[in-house]
Amino acid sequence: MFEQLKTLPQDPILGLMKTFREDPRSDKVDLGVGVYRDEAGETPIMAAVQAAQQRLLETETTKAYIGPAGAEGFNRLMGQLVLGAEHPALKEQRVNVVQTPGGCGALRMAAEFLKLCKPDATVWVSTPTWANHIPLLGGAGLTIREYPYLDPSSLSVNFDAMVDCLEQAEAGDVVLLHGCCHNPSGADLDADQWTAITDLIERKGLLPFIDIAYQGLGEGLDKDADGVRRLAERLPEVIIASSCSKNFGLYRERTGALMLISATAQQGLAATSQLLSAIRSHYSMPPSHGAAVVEMILDTPELMQQWQGELDAMCSRILELRAALSQALAPAGDFSFIERQRGMFSFLGVSPEQVKILREEFGIYMLDSSRINIAGMSTTTLPRVAEAIADVVGR
Ligand code: PMP
Repeated sequence: MFEQLKTLPQDPILGLMKTFREDPRSDKVDLGVGVYRDEAGETPIMAAVQAAQQRLLETETTKAYIGPAGAEGFNRLMGQLVLGAEHPALKEQRVNVVQTPGGCGALRMAAEFLKLCKPDATVWVSTPTWANHIPLLGGAGLTIREYPYLDPSSLSVNFDAMVDCLEQAEAGDVVLLHGCCHNPSGADLDADQWTAITDLIERKGLLPFIDIAYQGLGEGLDKDADGVRRLAERLPEVIIASSCSKNFGLYRERTGALMLISATAQQGLAATSQLLSAIRSHYSMPPSHGAAVVEMILDTPELMQQWQGELDAMCSRILELRAALSQALAPAGDFSFIERQRGMFSFLGVSPEQVKILREEFGIYMLDSSRINIAGMSTTTLPRVAEAIADVVGR
């Protein structure tokens, strides 16, 4: 049965990681892999997470099944974290949250849910978008169409082109938006653009689907969710996929949430019953540990304070590195977009050949698209990274 299968090419990020590991140079810098790194280049367990794990170890009484929706407390607190505790949709009981295996689990189950709502649903995704969006959503059988998002010359949002394209969408089409910290570009919608997109979605009867995987790593927990919150105040139905991988550093614990905002509480119950049935037929129920840690943190004032302090420090570090890199590159060209962008990623805007030179001559690793992980630098390595980029673009 297996003999006719061909080996697929290796994922480019995994290939890059392997080459990086095998590179003997001691001053090599990895700007490829998408995990947060601290000044020492580590991805440590956050102290609030460690403290919560310790408490869990002492208080956990069972490992019995948790059910397809996951933990009720986690779901309630995640709804509040993303939407803000006072959000009208929460007060009107129109929000149903389920715990998922990471943001990927939320995205895929949202796609399976959409398939149940509308088997021929079309989802519009930004060009570019996170590389896994299309396999996750397309893999569920949804039709994917793309709207232009990033202007490749200025590396900023080409909002006019985005709006022009989405004017072609039909009522009932789904529009995937990045809640904050657009991956891979770092270019986010500003407040006026969020309002204009909300107007367009409302006028055309589209369904907004928000992926928010970096809340707290752009400008802060509330600021990063502002666009989503305001959109959800106006529209009757919204789907939100949220991840705890980055902001809690829980990557391998597979912790995320999927939120359905429905027009009425009654419709929300029916929709959730469908979603839960889809979950049951996919993975039955989510893993517990990561969500139990998040619930413990969000529900314990001193842990919450500790976590917010740590997250704010991560966020400030990224903002400082952004400012430092665009300043260090100023003599080589206009890299001010790096300082204006938000989150872990930006495109440098250099060619694949220049990316190759950076890797081979300077030991600086990034994706061929020139996407860099800003947090992959430290204040020690940044000057060398900037010098190498300046050298390569100046040739
Ligand atoms: N959405 C985006 C835009 C992402 O970048 C990621 C992680 N790289 C995710 C969702 C999902 O992350 P996870 O499944 O690890 O929570």
